[in-house]
Amino acid sequence: MIQANPHYEELERSYLFSEIARRVAKWQAENPTLPLLRLGIGDVTEPLAPPIAAALVAAAKEMGTPEGFHGYGPEQGYPWLREAIARNDFQARGLNIQADEVFVSDGAKSDTANILDILGRDLTIAVQDPVYPVYVDTNVMLGRAAAIRRLTASEANGFLPGPDSPGADSDVIYLCYPNNPTGVAADRELLSAWVEHALARGSLLLFDAAYAAFIRDDRPVSIYEIPGAERCAIELRSFSKTAGFTGLRCGYTVVPHTLEAQGAGGPVKLRDLWLRRQTTKFNGVAYPVQRAAEAVYSEAGQKAVRRQVAGYLANADVLRRSLEAAGYQVAGGQHAPYLWVRVQGSSWDAFDDFLERLNLVITPGSGFGAAGEGFIRISAFGSAETVARAARRLETGRVEG
Ligand code: PLP
Repeated sequence: MIQANPHYEELERSYLFSEIARRVAKWQAENPTLPLLRLGIGDVTEPLAPPIAAALVAAAKEMGTPEGFHGYGPEQGYPWLREAIARNDFQARGLNIQADEVFVSDGAKSDTANILDILGRDLTIAVQDPVYPVYVDTNVMLGRAAAIRRLTASEANGFLPGPDSPGADSDVIYLCYPNNPTGVAADRELLSAWVEHALARGSLLLFDAAYAAFIRDDRPVSIYEIPGAERCAIELRSFSKTAGFTGLRCGYTVVPHTLEAQGAGGPVKLRDLWLRRQTTKFNGVAYPVQRAAEAVYSEAGQKAVRRQVAGYLANADVLRRSLEAAGYQVAGGQHAPYLWVRVQGSSWDAFDDFLERLNLVITPGSGFGAAGEGFIRISAFGSAETVARAARRLETGRVEG
């Protein structure tokens, strides 16, 4: 008899986006002429910037020539991309991260899941609530449903739970800043407290910085800006939201040489285990995609992606002003493409109300965890025109005539 992994039956039904789609489809069928606007999108809306698209095309063409053909590549990424990442994202900020500590991948989602391969079985896990659901589901799949503790992100702690939160006393702690879904970003003081806690307790921080490019002041962009993090933290990064790679797929994970864990016969370097894991189980990222990622760091690439991110942040500013003018309490959106908005009644009631009254699609906060009940997430991904129209509706409380 074939045995299935029983833990898949412990997963909560992935209800959020299918239920949104169902309610929107029903509403559209009943109201085919009304002008629906979507502020629920967690995907970029701008096309690839021209210098990045040009690098992709050039590399694809190279592959069709005898001199430029590339077969199997290094699973951990081509050295020129790993060097560009280490130099631009870390060394340029004074951080001592080397190319051989950078592992190129097809994105942060895969890495947040796959990294669990190199950790022991018997671990307690802390995640924030509300949370990016992948952290929870990937642990449930491994049989850790009962080992997951929730760090409540509420108005009371500014949506920034610290190491004094119940549940923080865990072996693995997921931190995501700037955060999806709340859109808040941690400051140096909070991240320092987490690093200190992890070092004192012997915990591992899994620091998801998929939205790092949205930080617009001098708060830490990388966990390695906090001294000691190189001994307790793995950082996950993505080109998805920062350079429009959601369709191309590329990200990277940093595992410092100095990060040790207890092995069967003494301390082991997690970096070496990750190298072994990736070279055994991962095929690497396509050569043209890595060339496109490299182009993100060119002068023209940087200018273009900064402009795109600034555009999404300007959208967030417009939405925040309208929401506040309409009397809503709004968190996030200053260093992230998401706004976290307090609503009256349940998140799903608010979803229906926004759809029917304003013809706007938003995301119910309760879909990200129990602490998200009573909130909605509004996304700033979208064109400036869409956002301006949506903002007018939010402000006036009605759909344009
Ligand atoms: N981490 C967070 C917090 C996210 O919101 C997302 C995507 O929405 C990801 C990771 C996934 O990133 P990638 O597209 O690189 O897999």
